[in-house]
Amino acid sequence: MSRFLSDEYKDLTPYTPGEQPKIKSLIKLNTNECPYPPSPAVLEALTSEQILDLRLYPDPLATPLIESIADHFGLDAEQIIVGNGSDEILAFCFMAFQNSGRRIYYPEISYGFYPVYANVFGAKGKAVPLDGNLRINIEDYKNLDGTIIIANPNAPTGIALEPEEIEEILITNKDNLVIIDEAYIDFGGRSCAPLIRDHDNLMIIQTFSKSRALAGARIGFALGSPEMIKDINKIKFSFNPYNLSRLSILAGAAAMRDVDYFKKCTDEIQKTRDSFVKAMEKLGFEVLPSSANFVFAKNPKISGEAYYVLLRKKNILVRHFNKKPIEDYVRITIGLPSDMDALLAVTEKILEGEK
Ligand code: PMP
Repeated sequence: MSRFLSDEYKDLTPYTPGEQPKIKSLIKLNTNECPYPPSPAVLEALTSEQILDLRLYPDPLATPLIESIADHFGLDAEQIIVGNGSDEILAFCFMAFQNSGRRIYYPEISYGFYPVYANVFGAKGKAVPLDGNLRINIEDYKNLDGTIIIANPNAPTGIALEPEEIEEILITNKDNLVIIDEAYIDFGGRSCAPLIRDHDNLMIIQTFSKSRALAGARIGFALGSPEMIKDINKIKFSFNPYNLSRLSILAGAAAMRDVDYFKKCTDEIQKTRDSFVKAMEKLGFEVLPSSANFVFAKNPKISGEAYYVLLRKKNILVRHFNKKPIEDYVRITIGLPSDMDALLAVTEKILEGEK
């Protein structure tokens, strides 16, 4: 720490991103990326002419990208804002709605960035425990006195709430902002986007990093009332107006418009997930019901940490969280069918005692 760091950041604990290894030969199932390449339309959109145009600043309104999202969801451009990953959108939301010690409630086991943002932006973060089955109990979120943020499906459990359940939270919190982080919604969950029309306290956040195979392009977006989107734009234009690169704007718009490819990839991933879960259960794993592109699994024969370490030794990277009550689990991203077969073969050996 230098002697120049501001006092309020001296005790800050930053978010720990999943490992991004340099070795290509590793089977990388640790950060929920898409195993398929971006849509061919993305390759077509990124011409050498567009690369030469990088000398120019991008459109601060990211118009083609916003329009593609508006068309996809049947919303107006005024109901959408895009960010440099949904992480940036989350940060804008905390800046816009959560400073001065305002309360924000989130599940105790959820995306690790929520408490980090609460901390860095001076909000009062309130972690709400999950129930004994690692599920969110919606009763815990009724009639609260602050903002609510819920990942749906939740991470790292993969368990989804139904929009009808989220609507109960919205109705009982009319004067509280409810943010639903739908990073993993495209793998079998039901989006709350249609509820935007009837609930002006709802904000939906989604990302291009998972179902649209563009984690490296850093594109996220929020859907909400024009007034809330205006508030977030106020923050964005006070912070980083050119928050998306020219190439990301084009890549994102092309990916959003290629609905067939998006459907093909997300269908394929769900198919792979469902057969992988069956195979893991045959090996004695308990797998939580996942509506995401990952599964959360544990096996009474081996600790989460030992399993993670032994997989790593065999060049398979998954995610382990050394935190109660989930320390027995590992989170495994759904990759190509061949990736899952390789993991299953290694797992069988590990369970037989191979070190
Ligand atoms: N929300 C959740 C629940 C996530 O797991 C992630 C990815 N780590 C994000 C948001 C952020 O995704 P990105 O910034 O890549 O859009």
